[in-house]
Amino acid sequence: EQERLKAFKDKKAETKDGHQVEIVGNMGNLKDVVPILDNGGEGVGLFRSEFLYMDRSELPTEEEQFEVYKEVAEKMGDKPVIIRTLDVGGDKELPYLDFPDEMNPFLGYRAIRVCLERDDIFKPQLRALLRAGSYGNLKIMFPMISSLNELLAAKEKVEEAKAELKEEGLEYNPDIDLGMMIEIPAAVMIADKLAREVDFFSIGTNDLIQYTVAVDRMNEQIAGMHTPYHPAVLRMIQKTIESAHAEDIWVGMCGEAAGEELLLPFLLGAGLDEFSMSAVSILKIKEVLTKWTLSEAEEVSKKVLNLGTVADVKDYLNKIKK
Ligand code: PEP
Ligand code: MG
Repeated sequence: EQERLKAFKDKKAETKDGHQVEIVGNMGNLKDVVPILDNGGEGVGLFRSEFLYMDRSELPTEEEQFEVYKEVAEKMGDKPVIIRTLDVGGDKELPYLDFPDEMNPFLGYRAIRVCLERDDIFKPQLRALLRAGSYGNLKIMFPMISSLNELLAAKEKVEEAKAELKEEGLEYNPDIDLGMMIEIPAAVMIADKLAREVDFFSIGTNDLIQYTVAVDRMNEQIAGMHTPYHPAVLRMIQKTIESAHAEDIWVGMCGEAAGEELLLPFLLGAGLDEFSMSAVSILKIKEVLTKWTLSEAEEVSKKVLNLGTVADVKDYLNKIKK
């Protein structure tokens, strides 16, 4: 099986009829670059920057971050590398920040909400990213955006960081692409407005499912409810892609669902442009992709969007699976 899949390593990710998408990898730390490249990943769709902040007793400096981002950018050459700004809080705690306990951490003070209030955290990261952007094809992505105001405020911080770097005479990429995660239902509903303000979206199904179905992603007792096959989630995905394409921006997916073989024809047919997954899934997904034409997948998507239950969706997808 692994031997057979290796044949797809250097092939472009495309359907039977030559429709191209991007198959890229998710990273949690620097070492992950190797398996992504070994498995034929065409770039990095999500670099979770949290690891830089964990297992230590203080915030990483701009310089430390710059070195790491630069290294990833250089290792990936001209392949795209999407680095997500700090997504702390929820399931990802940083002891040294000493935030108060919360009743509902997943609905609390986290990610972009923290960064927008704390220049001492956000600015060094943005400056490091902008500077590293001169060494490869880096893109910046904001997590947990729930409103247009937050997105505009985050973009403003990027402009401030650029102005500082310019003033200081430091080298940086002034044209770096900016994107945001779509992982909160509010963002899906205003995706048309948000799409005008960014270069790309990436759908984070892990959180989008949690917030759409009101099911804690960490709670094993209800883990069965945390599924991308829920019709409400599928419609969220479809609406996001449609809104993005209407504004001529591309959409990726970096939640676990992007690497699900069974879901592939739906995502492809709905128009997803980029699939970001753990390295181990890349070759398999590249292979499955070659079994479908775009118009066949579009038929599947249409059909799936008319189904009413998780069971019906799964039964149908299993029946038409190639
Ligand atoms: C997601 O929410 O789907 C996602 C990719 O981000 P994380 O799992 O890091 O929250
Ligand atoms: Mg998330």
